[in-house]
Amino acid sequence: MLERTLAIIKPDAFRKNHLGAILARYEHEGFRICAGKIKFLSLREAEGFYHVHRERPFFASLTQFMISGPVMTLVLEKKNAITDHRTLMGATDPAKAEPNSLRKLYGASIEENAIHGSDSPETARFEIAYFFPASEIF
Ligand code: ATP
Ligand code: MG
Repeated sequence: MLERTLAIIKPDAFRKNHLGAILARYEHEGFRICAGKIKFLSLREAEGFYHVHRERPFFASLTQFMISGPVMTLVLEKKNAITDHRTLMGATDPAKAEPNSLRKLYGASIEENAIHGSDSPETARFEIAYFFPASEIF
């Protein structure tokens, strides 16, 4: 079944000019990029986006990192997009990520790990709607 997921190219990868390489990789792996924008998140937006982590010890640091520079938000579409994108991203900690995964290639640490991806159909629905009205998804 065709599925959609939300990806964020995080501020670290954006700063290091990895945008083009990551977008090319998505197309190469069969994802259709059906929405995308470059955006500077407000603290309120970053906190709302990561609200499931609000009790975690790394919440303040994570949200400050997410507003440390622009990000690119994307909607990606393919069969099994959510799971396949999580596989392509690799483990949360780039040191433990699989060879050739996006986090292994472009991530620097467990916090500065280059990419976000939705982890279930429910979060994908919430996260896509968080950044994109239906009129901006093609
Ligand atoms: P994401 O939700 O960004 O796709 P994930 O699902 O692999 O990543 P989560 O457990 O949801 O990982 O954590 C969300 C984000 O919080 C991580 O991507 C990372 O940037 C940061 N993070 C997670 N664990 C830690 C930690 N122990 N220390 C610092 N930052 C962390
Ligand atoms: Mg997560």
